[in-house]
Amino acid sequence: MKQVHNFNAGPCILPKPAVQAGIDALNNFADTGMSVIEISHRSKEWEPVMADTVALWKELYNIPEGYHVLFLGGGASTQFFTVPYNLLEKKAAYLDTGVWANKASKEAKFFGEVEIVASSKADVYNHIPKGWTIPADADYFHITTNNTIYGTEIKHDLDSPVTLVADMSSDFMSRRVDVSKYGLIYGGAQKNVGPAGVTVVIVREDILGKVSRPLPTMVDYRTHISGESMFNTPPVFSIYVMHETLKWIKDIGGLVEIERRNKEKADLLYSEIDRNPMFKGTVIDREDRSLMNICFVMEDKYKDKEQDFLQYAKDNGMVGIKGHRSVGGFRASCYNACPLESVQALVKCMQEYAV
Ligand SMILES: *Cc1c(COP(=O)(O)O)cnc(C)c1O
Repeated sequence: MKQVHNFNAGPCILPKPAVQAGIDALNNFADTGMSVIEISHRSKEWEPVMADTVALWKELYNIPEGYHVLFLGGGASTQFFTVPYNLLEKKAAYLDTGVWANKASKEAKFFGEVEIVASSKADVYNHIPKGWTIPADADYFHITTNNTIYGTEIKHDLDSPVTLVADMSSDFMSRRVDVSKYGLIYGGAQKNVGPAGVTVVIVREDILGKVSRPLPTMVDYRTHISGESMFNTPPVFSIYVMHETLKWIKDIGGLVEIERRNKEKADLLYSEIDRNPMFKGTVIDREDRSLMNICFVMEDKYKDKEQDFLQYAKDNGMVGIKGHRSVGGFRASCYNACPLESVQALVKCMQEYAV
């Protein structure tokens, strides 16, 4: 197989052992002589996978009592409306830090008043807004912890006077999180914890059942709590590979080790971006720099070389480093499974190109 350095933004690189386990289970799942996609999700072979995946989430994230871990379909985008459906009675507050945050707030407007506490949209989301306050009369406050397109990240757990809701799609399981500070956390699996097709929701039960509107069955989180994520057929293959991805995280040392690796990779790449006279970072406040999606451009006087560098990087095995069309330049997504060697190879490319 061709050796590449995979910096795709999502879907993206997954741990090799998890991908291999998926291939094996497609051939012969748990010695059943059948593929994991050919058996009932009610079978005795499948049930332990489901239970163990929940247990791994709880263990790795140190999830306290009172929370449920759900595996749903529809992607994070479906949560954009499911969250307000379940939680918005009068007013919700949103922090506008990027395209995904903005999309989430737009969906909430179908259900009630939405207050945008702050926005960095006018600056093409090149920082996380500072100095705002969370309205105490909001039903919840929604944040996007990592802004995949712009490379900004809220790397600490906020204190909120109202229920805190977070879209963690692109920094799920990338660091330790104090789950007790959140009422609800959600994310699509495909950026850090598995293949596309499964969405993880971590919800504190006591925030549910407070809105007066009737909820369609599938939209109501309580349906999936009581059905243990099997009210309807769950995305079995995606869950299987997620299970193997979480096992890999645990095997290498859990979130302490993941955090250490992610910092090491990001430090290496950011220091090259800052040192190399041809490149510069796009995020203006250094404290906001994402450890997951590292965005940079060429200095103004080298702007016309961006295409050429992309080609050079491609010729050297780099995949997926073209920046999102709204930002331009480059974006190296250094998710959990991205090895240090890939970041070293990219840094080498930047150094060789600049001489
Ligand atoms: C990718 C992404 C989404 C969209 O996820 P889907 O599962 O494709 O709906 C939402 N939020 C963030 C932060 C993302 O990175």
